[in-house]
Parts: sequence; C-alpha cells; structure tokens
Amino acid sequence: MKVELRNLTKIFPSRNKKAGGEVIAVNDFTFTIPDGKLVGLLGPSGCGKSTTLYMISGLQKPSSGQIFFGEEDVTTLSPENRGVGLVFQNYALYPHMTVKQNILFPLQNLKGKDKMTKEEMLERAYEAAKLVQIDELMDRKPSELSGGQQQRVAIARALVKMPRVLLLDEPLSNLDARLRLQTREEIRRIQKETGITTVFVTHDQEEAMSISDMIVVMKLGVVQQVGAPQEVYDDPANLFVAKFLGTPPINVFKGRVAGGKLYLAENAVLDVPGVEDREVFVGIRPEGFNLDPEGPMVCDLKNVEVMGRDMSVVCEHPASVNPLVRAIINSDNKVDLSKAKVSYSLKPHKVFIFDAETENRIRF
Ligand code: ADP
Ligand code: MG
Repeated sequence: MKVELRNLTKIFPSRNKKAGGEVIAVNDFTFTIPDGKLVGLLGPSGCGKSTTLYMISGLQKPSSGQIFFGEEDVTTLSPENRGVGLVFQNYALYPHMTVKQNILFPLQNLKGKDKMTKEEMLERAYEAAKLVQIDELMDRKPSELSGGQQQRVAIARALVKMPRVLLLDEPLSNLDARLRLQTREEIRRIQKETGITTVFVTHDQEEAMSISDMIVVMKLGVVQQVGAPQEVYDDPANLFVAKFLGTPPINVFKGRVAGGKLYLAENAVLDVPGVEDREVFVGIRPEGFNLDPEGPMVCDLKNVEVMGRDMSVVCEHPASVNPLVRAIINSDNKVDLSKAKVSYSLKPHKVFIFDAETENRIRF
C-alpha cells in the first residue's frame, strides 16, 4: 500500500497562553512512501517523528494537509478504520493476559463482516507468532518474557490484523545493544516477508541506515532530505544532515574558499573549482583522509586507537569546530606516535563544503 503525505502540518497550541508560542511539530511534510518499502523516519528528539507517525495512524489529526493510502483519502478516517498496525517504544502489552490473549485481542474486537470465528482467530494469532518466532511462548505472561520477546509480541499483535501499513515508533529503544541489533534484523526480515509498507521511527542514525530502503531526515518539524541511506550519507544536502549521519561523526571545520582553493587555517587543502570566494563550513568524513607525508592537511597527532581492521587516528587541527579530529585509516598503515604531527591528503568525494550562513551544501 502506497502512503502519500501531502503538505502534512501539525501545530500544537501553546500550553501557556500568556507565554504564547505554538509548536509547529510537523511543517509541510510532503512525501510518498512507495508500496512495500520500509522508510526510516530519522531525527533528534522533538523533531516531529512521532507526531508524523500518529497522524499517519489517525491517533492525531493534522492541522492541515492530507494523507492517502493508495488512492483513498484517509485524512479523516478513524485509526480503527485505517488498517494500520502500531508498535510503540514501551511494548504496552496487557500484563494480566498471556501472550496468546495479547495477540488475539485486536481480532476479538472486529465487527460486522470482519468478525472471525475462534478457529480463524487462533490460526491468525499463531501465524503472526511464528513470524516473530514466539509461537513457543504463547502461554506465558509478559512479565515472564525478556524485553526482546515482549517487543516481538507487540509486533505480532500489530501484524495479526494484517495491516495495510505498519508503524513502528522507536521500537528498539528499550532493548540492550545486542538485542537491538538482532531485533532490527528481525523487523527487516518480517517486513520483507510480509511486504507491508512500513514506517520506522528512530533517533538512531545507524539503526535507520541499516534497515531502511529510504530514510527521511527531519529537524524541527521540517524534512531536510529524503533518499536511500547510502545516497544521503554520500551526498548530504546540508550540514545538519552531514552531521547527523555517520559513526564516528563527520569532522567539521571552519574554512574559506579563495581562488578555487579550500583553505583550512593557512593551508590550501583541496581544489574546489568553480566555487566563489566565501566563508564555509567543511565536513570531512573520517574515512576521507589518506596518510600522506606530503599531504596539505597537517594535524597535531594525539592518539591512535586500533580497532582491528581499521585504526582511528585522533588529532587536533586549529580550524576544527570540535576539540578532536578523527580519521579512520586501514590498520595496515603505520602511524608513528613519537611524531608530533600527522599529514593527510584528502579524498575529494569525502569532503563537503557548506555555506557558513545557510549551512546548505555547496557542490564543486
Ligand atoms: P519526536 O518523536 O521526533 O521526538 P514529537 O513528534 O514527539 O517528536 O514532538 C515534536 C514537537 O511537538 C516537540 O516540540 C514536542 O514537544 C511537541 N509536541 C508533541 N506532542 C505534543 C502535544 N500533545 N502538545 C504540545 N506539544 C506537543
Ligand atoms: Mg517520538
């Protein structure tokens, strides 16, 4: 099911009338989620991800704009009639019910032509449980399950009605690191197996990058960029997006373009043909450095952290916005820690420049 958002906007009135200042939680969001894809909605806390999701689900009413499922305008449809499955961060299972009863619950409330026999319901519940691999645990209570298992039950409960759209709001946040990894792979598998159009909300860029067909990066209610994860990583539209994606994060410098060259402190570090003279922010991905004794970018060497295949070379640079600059280098190379300086040449496609005022990307 294709999901189309048209100029979707949500304004919350101020709680404090005197102080004024309404919140534009979601600002003119236009986007089409292709049928059968998993879209990662990504951004820092408070940027409007949940509000967007709740509007798609029908739990919140947009201030303006429209939502279509396929060709059907669902903007005013109630949540029960939209055919969405919702999973929240806190699993919100009914504690006094068994796993089976929890999964059956949404089916027992179906009315009219959707009403099912007991056998049909059980069959469906077991199908959903199998899909998330908890069919062995059907008679347990939620308190007898691990966090990961509880979240699977919540996902099974969302899937049991065979929703047209699956909406997941930070579903992995309460899991420990290992379970988070495992569960996100599970979600991806289930999504592929069922082909349900899915929106996955997270503030964790790595999570979004690893499982999404497409990501939408938001900031303060405004969509910053949409694209395949690698595409957005390789071609960020602005400094915010460049900083938000990538671990370790991109290194940011204050720089200057003059005569088609990019300067960091006094040194010309890269040719940027066609760019007018101006002040810029410069983003260099950690993998954008080549060790090069003749290289134009000279840093004060601080430390080397070996991480197996790669090493992280930590240094300082006078133009850096952050205290430390981090370069990821293949560990076949050697860095002499007794030296005070380390020199690099730069990989041009790993260097991005941004207007110092607007922070928008300047291409070269
Ligand atoms: P996210 O899920 O990205 O963390 P939210 O969608 O929850 O962000 O919130 C976006 C903005 O809207 C925040 O500034 C938040 O404080 C505000 N907001 C969310 N829900 C309400 C509400 N019910 N009333 C007033 N403001 C709200
Ligand atoms: Mg949220």
